[in-house]
Amino acid sequence: MPGEFEIIDRCFRTGFPSRADVVLGIGDDAACLVPPAGRELVAATDTLVAGIHFPPDLDPGDVGYRALAVNLSDLAAMGAEPAWMTLALTLPEADLGWLTGFAAGLRAAARGAGVALVGGDTTRGPLTVTIQVLGTVPAGTVVRRAGARPGEGIYVSGTLGDAAMGLACLRHGLEAGPAGDFCRRRFARPEPRLALGQALRGRASAMIDVSDGLLADLGHLLAASGVGATLARERVPVSEAFRACLSRLPPQVQPEARTYPLSGGDDYELCFTLPPGADDQVRALGERCGVRLTHIGVVESHPGLRVVDREGRPVEVQKPGYEHFGATDEA
Ligand code: ADP
Ligand code: MG
Repeated sequence: MPGEFEIIDRCFRTGFPSRADVVLGIGDDAACLVPPAGRELVAATDTLVAGIHFPPDLDPGDVGYRALAVNLSDLAAMGAEPAWMTLALTLPEADLGWLTGFAAGLRAAARGAGVALVGGDTTRGPLTVTIQVLGTVPAGTVVRRAGARPGEGIYVSGTLGDAAMGLACLRHGLEAGPAGDFCRRRFARPEPRLALGQALRGRASAMIDVSDGLLADLGHLLAASGVGATLARERVPVSEAFRACLSRLPPQVQPEARTYPLSGGDDYELCFTLPPGADDQVRALGERCGVRLTHIGVVESHPGLRVVDREGRPVEVQKPGYEHFGATDEA
């Protein structure tokens, strides 16, 4: 069985982006990094626990990719450019086959974002992956959850509900096919919206990434901003693949699955607010960043999140898991 140092040497020391701003990376007691002059550090950390955040038998490459991607999504939501990461890995056993796959997935995500792996920790225990990412923004430009003002538009990137649908496909053993593969991939290999997040610096008044579901996360943004909103349910963007999978799920789970675009987690899209009349600007931004952007609602002064149907009638949104934002859903 390989020891801790052999694991680090074989899996984590090479193949990751190298950066000139790393004075000391893996190998000393701590990393030493050079933050660029005039910029502020932005740090985020997220833990994935096997059996809680991902199925224990998920492909190890997907575990590695996803562990970094969910962290990068937090930096994207701040408008930050990622630079460095550390990795705390807890393993039940030193399985080199699993570790090789994991490291390959992690490297793929790291290369995509230019992130150097500068250190970490390796311990024995139930399979758990913790990553900390560090990035930077020009001083004073970080985009916060607070800042949305009444009258502003609410936008979301990409499509919602795909990742939760991907998990449902795994759970219900939906046969292979392009739609199911698309949704499973949206869960396993989320695409952090880094270019979009950075492009929204100085434009978006508030931003958050959608990790727990649109209603929950938009609720956090509204609460932090001290405002409310009306959300048009029909405008929430849903993929063709989502629709195809929905119709193929067992009938008894379809009602639950219909709630995924509003309340399913794990999509890692960005939700943000912009001053009124920004639709043209948003179209250009979407083209530049290669992602669909959709105007889904409007910020209001009255607290709470009101969901309306095509005719503007209030829609009941009650379902376990909505508690996060339930306190503000009084309307
Ligand atoms: P220490 O005992 O001083 O905390 P360790 O023996 O835990 O150091 O780690 C040795 C070196 O290997 C350190 O530079 C540490 O950052 C790095 N390291 C340990 N585990 C990992 C990992 N999973 N990924 C990347 N680097 C790691
Ligand atoms: Mg030490």
